[in-house]
Amino acid sequence: MNFIETRGNDGKHPVEVSFSSAILAPIASFGGIYVPKTLPELGADFLQKHIDSGYKKLAKDVLAAFEIDIESDVIDEALSLYDEFDNATNPVPLVKVKDDLYVSELYHGPTRAFKDMALQPFGVVLSSLAEKRNENYLIMAATSGDTGPAALETFKNRANVQVACLYPDGGTSDVQRLQMVTENAENLKVIGIHGDFDDAQNALKRLLGSATFKAKLKEKNIHLSAANSVNFGRIIFQLIYHIHSYLELVRKQAIALGDKVYLDVPSGNFGNALGGYYAMKMGLPVEKILIASNKNNVLTQLIKRGQYDLRDMTVVSTSSPAMDILKSSNVERILFDMFGAARTRELMFQLDNDKHYALSAEELAQFQAIFAADFCEDDEGRQYIKDAFADGYLMDPHTATCFKAYETCRDKPLITIAYSTAEWTKFSPTIANALTGEQDASDIDALKAIAEEAGIAIPAMINELFTKDITQKTIIDKQDIEKEILAFL
Ligand SMILES: *Cc1c(COP(=O)(O)O)cnc(C)c1O
Repeated sequence: MNFIETRGNDGKHPVEVSFSSAILAPIASFGGIYVPKTLPELGADFLQKHIDSGYKKLAKDVLAAFEIDIESDVIDEALSLYDEFDNATNPVPLVKVKDDLYVSELYHGPTRAFKDMALQPFGVVLSSLAEKRNENYLIMAATSGDTGPAALETFKNRANVQVACLYPDGGTSDVQRLQMVTENAENLKVIGIHGDFDDAQNALKRLLGSATFKAKLKEKNIHLSAANSVNFGRIIFQLIYHIHSYLELVRKQAIALGDKVYLDVPSGNFGNALGGYYAMKMGLPVEKILIASNKNNVLTQLIKRGQYDLRDMTVVSTSSPAMDILKSSNVERILFDMFGAARTRELMFQLDNDKHYALSAEELAQFQAIFAADFCEDDEGRQYIKDAFADGYLMDPHTATCFKAYETCRDKPLITIAYSTAEWTKFSPTIANALTGEQDASDIDALKAIAEEAGIAIPAMINELFTKDITQKTIIDKQDIEKEILAFL
């Protein structure tokens, strides 16, 4: 299946491209991104057929439905990385927390956050494409803390690929920063910048669209690509776990096949929620997708009022930093799917130029038929963490935002799948504060406090970070990013 552009075609880009082209060069005409030309219809018998399928078998068949131009052995190798997750037979466990609330844990991969779900297989697919084409790629990533470690981990020492990873200095947890700055491989460059995540993401988008930067890379015989969730190569792997989690509910006899459920997603760049949206459009029985945010509540405003309004907004730092995002890139794919390319281009241009767009009443109704949204303040989040712990469930502050949406956004008593996007180890000071009242603990002290309180061990891969050498020391101003990357290459 081919891919088309969210903002229409400018006459310079091809009108449609293959999957491999879309992931190698993810930016389309007018600054748009790629989407599948049509979505495959899975149908009820697909779910029935996969009632007893393991994760990899399900994944393989979902990918096959998209008819992507990736060879079967490469897909097998990519999916085999799920064998390295905590439980090879079930990389995404579903845990019952209340009678009608189940948590789908997406963080059992090597970097302990849900970014591994997509980036682990994506790394294999992209580097094998580069190798087969005998081309070299610079993969750029901007991270609010979890994409960076996951991208570095997946591309480390892979052929034909170098990675430059931008993170906001001071905008990530200690564990996230250590996961990046202790990465030691010749093909990896980690760059801290003075600024917030939106600064990092804007710098990334600017470089991806810059003809002069590309020309300089060309002199070095290097192509440019991105590992952020603007890349459809990530989204395609994020459809799968929504379907898997639904089937887990059937296997646990919490629902019958065909029953509708709520998906409850802690959202930032909207990749996770978009995966749920596509799964729903492909036939997964979903009542609504609940979009949980923190105080950076642009998505709540969009879904409640139909306004995407950045005019008086600046990013605020919260205890769920992976969601400290105002320009949520994947909303564009929803706009395209609902309203088409011309309208998407118009709205995205308004957002870029006026920092604002407004949906019409009919458009808003279309949104609200599928999405509901709410946001969760940090102190509310800490209370949810505390209450869940009292009920025997330990969760991170991103996951906690879903508990608010679960309470406020449902209008039917249906089973809800909330997604847990990070392990407790990545955001331990907030959790320690919620559980013991301890203030301003360092990550390591907080990890120890929680481990003791919960009677569990700190995972070895987290503990080791605190004694590893720091190999990536660069911290610079935004305007020096391009120079720094060219020097690395
Ligand atoms: C990336 C991330 C999110 C946000 O996911 P999106 O797909 O960008 O909406 C939420 N929680 C954690 C822990 C993350 O790493």
